[in-house]
Amino acid sequence: MKILIPGGAGFIGSHLCEHFLEQGHEVTAIDNVSTGSIENISHLVNHKKFQLIVDSILNVSALEPLIQQSDHICHLAAAVGVKLIVNDPVTTIETNIRGTEIMLHYANKWRKPVLFTSTSEVYGKNTNETFSENDDMVLGATTHSRWSYACSKAIDEFLVLSYFRKRQLPATIVRLFNTVGPRQSPQYGMVLPRFVKQALEKRPITVYGDGSQTRTFTYVNDVVLAISKLIETPKAIGEVFNIGGTEQISILELATLVKEKTKSQSEIVHLSFDEAYEPGFEDMKRRVPNIEKLKTFIDFHPTISLSSIVDNVIAYFKSNALK
Ligand code: UDP
Repeated sequence: MKILIPGGAGFIGSHLCEHFLEQGHEVTAIDNVSTGSIENISHLVNHKKFQLIVDSILNVSALEPLIQQSDHICHLAAAVGVKLIVNDPVTTIETNIRGTEIMLHYANKWRKPVLFTSTSEVYGKNTNETFSENDDMVLGATTHSRWSYACSKAIDEFLVLSYFRKRQLPATIVRLFNTVGPRQSPQYGMVLPRFVKQALEKRPITVYGDGSQTRTFTYVNDVVLAISKLIETPKAIGEVFNIGGTEQISILELATLVKEKTKSQSEIVHLSFDEAYEPGFEDMKRRVPNIEKLKTFIDFHPTISLSSIVDNVIAYFKSNALK
């Protein structure tokens, strides 16, 4: 199969490219290398079944022929990272909405199936113990730019589902819950690479708020396996799936775990959300997926414990000389 991966030079995209190549597929990545990087896929560039097109998905003349030549599209190109979103909401909204709009238009024109990667952020401030796919979105005011990300991804989801329902475009949506692993950059705010880098560099580990907020981290290899099984599952078409881990941890506990595992002398410090992001910033207290639907459709079970995830991320940063 020929698989097109918009966003293929990103953190998750690069792992997906690798996985599909290992499975014998042909892979084309199109990426503007903004938050992604050539380095993420440098080990793949000489692979005879891989090609990278450095361009924006907003450039129709580059994107359309790639769509036309592909058998399946895994759409990952998006602005990501809470820090980036707060700093640059215009790019977030434009990339996420216009990019997906263009991609779906041409996927529909050439009748190519699409897997769209959304986010657990769409559940927003919903206070449920766990989130199921049909749960409400509870988003904050438009004056808080954080919510532009959830809103842009929610609009994308509406668009994907509308193409499926009204134009019979084969499409599947996945909502990713705090995906982590090697190659994730600390630059755009993601907590685990930030903590690991801070600990290894003996700098203060910065916990935002009191650190009682919890997250459920998912190892990138598990996300990749789930995506690759879903695109081979015809009954997944027209469906939305949470992809996430099962081990919930508070951010303060995560900071402590990273400090212990790196044997770091770093001090754990607290910063207010206002200082860390912007005045009035709203965080979520808890974010845990219900993954029953994914289990039913593809027998998904996360394979890597949180402890091993943290070990792997530490090993990655050590072997990559703390770039
Ligand atoms: N966080 C933190 N210190 C950091 C970066 C993030 O305490 O240096 C917190 C952040 O406020 C949130 C959690 O860690 O409560 C997860 O943040 P991330 O940006 O990784 O993902 P989110 O779940 O917010 O999308």
